[in-house]
Amino acid sequence: MSMFCFQCEQTAGGKGCIKTGVCGKKPEVSNAQDELTCALIGLARASGGKCPNANAAVLMIKSLFATVTNVNFDEAKINELKELVEKEKNLLGGAEDFNMAELWNGDIDIVSLRSTLLLGIRGMAAYAYHAHVLGKNDFEVTDWFFKGMKAIGEEHTVEEWLNLLMEFGGMNLKCMALLDEANTSAYGHPVPVKVTTNVEKGPFIVVSGHDLLDLKQLLEQT
Ligand code: SF4
Repeated sequence: MSMFCFQCEQTAGGKGCIKTGVCGKKPEVSNAQDELTCALIGLARASGGKCPNANAAVLMIKSLFATVTNVNFDEAKINELKELVEKEKNLLGGAEDFNMAELWNGDIDIVSLRSTLLLGIRGMAAYAYHAHVLGKNDFEVTDWFFKGMKAIGEEHTVEEWLNLLMEFGGMNLKCMALLDEANTSAYGHPVPVKVTTNVEKGPFIVVSGHDLLDLKQLLEQT
């Protein structure tokens, strides 16, 4: 089975992972993530490019976040999300999903522009999801996920793609501010502290990323 993923700096040969991910992502998972992405474009189409309700909003953000590098390699969970997306889409009257064969194919500039927006939106979903679990949401940001995903499923000129990307950049900044507010209102402003740099004998739990709520729960549990 083949796959295609070039969404992170580890990508094979600086070009794309096509057999299996350098990160360990299997083709089955990568393809399921692509199918989920195409279903999310279908959901955005059914919603007319605007957030229709809170359930669809969380589903959109959570599903996009699940397709970010190294976030979720559980094929069954990805398929479960896709089923929920299809159900939500049908409640909204239904729409055609994006054609998976077109996701990473076509005119090289257009693929590049489309991918830039898609991978950017996935990243913004990580910020939005982390803000959401801390009780912070921004209607304008949430709405833009639907606008952006609908636009990804449409044809645009290079200039139109660039305008979309500029607009997205502004929205991403807004979302980063939202996450900053969520984090600082929950945990206070970060200050430099002294930490040990000793290398201890394992086992360890290695934590990376910016999911502070998960980190807090992990610390409480350990
Ligand atoms: S996320 Fe994994 S599969 Fe995708 S480009 Fe990075 S290393 Fe390759």
